[in-house]
Amino acid sequence: MVATRGGPRPEGSALGVDIGGTNIKWVHRAGAVVVARGTLPTPAAGPAQVAAAIAELAEARTVEAIGVALPGHLSPDLRFTTTIPNIDGDWQGYPLADTLERDTAKPVLLMNDARAFASAELALGSARGHTDVVFMTMGTGIGGAIALGGSVLRGPGDRIGEIGHMTAAPGGSRCACGARGCLETVSGGRALAVAWSRVLASRGTADQDRTATPEDLVQAAQSGDTTAREILDTAATAVGTVLGSVLTQLGLSTVVVGGGVAPAFGVMRPAVELALRDRRRLIGPVMFLTAALGPYAGAMGAALNATAQPLAVASALPRLSVI
Ligand SMILES: [Zn+2]
Repeated sequence: MVATRGGPRPEGSALGVDIGGTNIKWVHRAGAVVVARGTLPTPAAGPAQVAAAIAELAEARTVEAIGVALPGHLSPDLRFTTTIPNIDGDWQGYPLADTLERDTAKPVLLMNDARAFASAELALGSARGHTDVVFMTMGTGIGGAIALGGSVLRGPGDRIGEIGHMTAAPGGSRCACGARGCLETVSGGRALAVAWSRVLASRGTADQDRTATPEDLVQAAQSGDTTAREILDTAATAVGTVLGSVLTQLGLSTVVVGGGVAPAFGVMRPAVELALRDRRRLIGPVMFLTAALGPYAGAMGAALNATAQPLAVASALPRLSVI
């Protein structure tokens, strides 16, 4: 539950939905308050079933609008899904906004999940009070977003800020996006887990009952395993190099780090800072902030953006406590 701490209240109510490969997270926002939230398994049968699940959620709640955050790309008019690589089913060209509007009789806004996360953190979370920020979400892959002047930049198809798909290793591994050597192929959670699995397999110490996770890698590094530390240092150097380019290009020096694999960033940070050291003359010291809203940030961002209120403007928002 999110409680107000005074200040103006945004009007309107909305259902915010964050669709992930495993779970759908949702929040019901009434004005400035999250009055309910929950999680359900993502239907595996494809977009029509996901749309039906969202319509069912909306049916059970009294809301004026629906915001949906998706881990992928949208058509330039933000009505269709295009590339949604990590959710089952054929999402290419699926008319998700029209389908939901027909089935619920509510206005529907689709957005990228990293931009939704950034909207929530900017308005209500760790970036509150900041206006110019780079956001990085570390999960299976790496998402990104950019806020300038207190608003998260979206652009046609909501594509601005794809830090995870900037090249970190030219000619490197093939990425889900089709390119080679993207940052997330070096430093994303899946890449870290794969790298650590290979090490364990080569040592003959792999657990046959479960695959290695980024958390296993971090734990090994913290326990003094030098190979684990080297994998994280390589990943961190790539993150620092790409962030250095982004911050220099945009003239920014504040970074919010979130996502399920974000705890690894604490271990990676010295090597990230080292990679950024030579950028200081141009960008100054970089301020890293830890995301504050937790796993429902994406759903909250979708709910914030779903109504016509100017909720992306941080100064206009009420003070809310975090979940
Ligand atoms: Zn890529």
